[in-house]
Amino acid sequence: MKQKAKLQEKVQTLFSAIEEAEKMDEQEHRGLDLPELGESTSLTSEKLEAAVKRLEDKLHEQPKDKPLKKAVRELRKDLLPRLQKYEDQQAVLGDRNSFSKTDPDATFMRMKEDHMLNGQLKPGYNVQIGTENQFIVGYSLHQRPTDTRCLKPHVEKVKAALGRLPGTVIADAGYGGEENYAYLESEQLEALVKYGTYHKEKSKNWQNDISKIDNWDYNDAEDTWTCLAGRMLVFRYESKGKTESGFEIQHRHYRSTSCEGCPLKSCTKAQGNREIKVSLRYMRYKQQVREKLLSEEGYALSVRRMIEPGSVFGQVKSNRSFRRFLLRGLPKVSLEVGWLSLAHNLLKKAAIDQNKMKMEQI
Ligand code: SF4
Repeated sequence: MKQKAKLQEKVQTLFSAIEEAEKMDEQEHRGLDLPELGESTSLTSEKLEAAVKRLEDKLHEQPKDKPLKKAVRELRKDLLPRLQKYEDQQAVLGDRNSFSKTDPDATFMRMKEDHMLNGQLKPGYNVQIGTENQFIVGYSLHQRPTDTRCLKPHVEKVKAALGRLPGTVIADAGYGGEENYAYLESEQLEALVKYGTYHKEKSKNWQNDISKIDNWDYNDAEDTWTCLAGRMLVFRYESKGKTESGFEIQHRHYRSTSCEGCPLKSCTKAQGNREIKVSLRYMRYKQQVREKLLSEEGYALSVRRMIEPGSVFGQVKSNRSFRRFLLRGLPKVSLEVGWLSLAHNLLKKAAIDQNKMKMEQI
């Protein structure tokens, strides 16, 4: 929160000015006893409240100290209440970066509906559904706009509600990623989840791109890469990275033995020998997904996915014109989605039964 950081800095500057003024008065640090505020980023309203109280006591002893009086007034009337307000807002925000004033549980997101054509963000919830034969088997609501980090909590909610999980999870590329693949593997779920570059990889541009390591050879036994110029990249060291949710990713770093005089030097803008950073685990997951999606069964399932959740959302939003939640707050909106799912499933079942009866009459 930028405003909070600015305010914390302002308080620090003010305290430094008070301290400076005290020194200039050539008075000893006579018990002004300015509290340790620490780093400006760690300044809390609690610490500031204590500091302001001490300054007020000091002002009682020296009521004619005008600069001190001015500083105390600014702290008490403006800075302290603002810091408290920012802290309250931060508590509501959690790990989000926005919330709506009319529904603090809702987060600002880019919606597909954009009547003004200006990409305006609107408050909403990210609703995830799992379907089978266009029946909703599970749903969950999320306060983040992107889908990637919704997969795990969604699957967990479905598992808690149904007591079991399907054998295969099919989802689009928005849910792909090492963290999700690792989670699905740990739950022994088959992942038919595309990763971000799955479709791009099939393009001629991608396949002819000499800089892409997907077009290079990896020697598992030697743990070396061979680039398109036929030169070898050898392992140097390993580093660890973390995703937003704290999932650890291990990267292996390789460096070319020599890029000197390479006719394909345009493969890198870097000077010297090219270096690459790879997560072998992610590579393995991507290879597994590639193979599954290219298999007959995998292809059939991925085609089926196209008419699963998409058409259910279409039924609810377009055919039944449900475009806005009527309630406010995560628990109530969650309940609303539950009722909608129930209604959708009952209508679907009724339509199937009706069709069956018609067929029997023919
Ligand atoms: S620049 Fe280096 S890594 Fe790139 S193709 Fe040439 S030798 Fe290989």
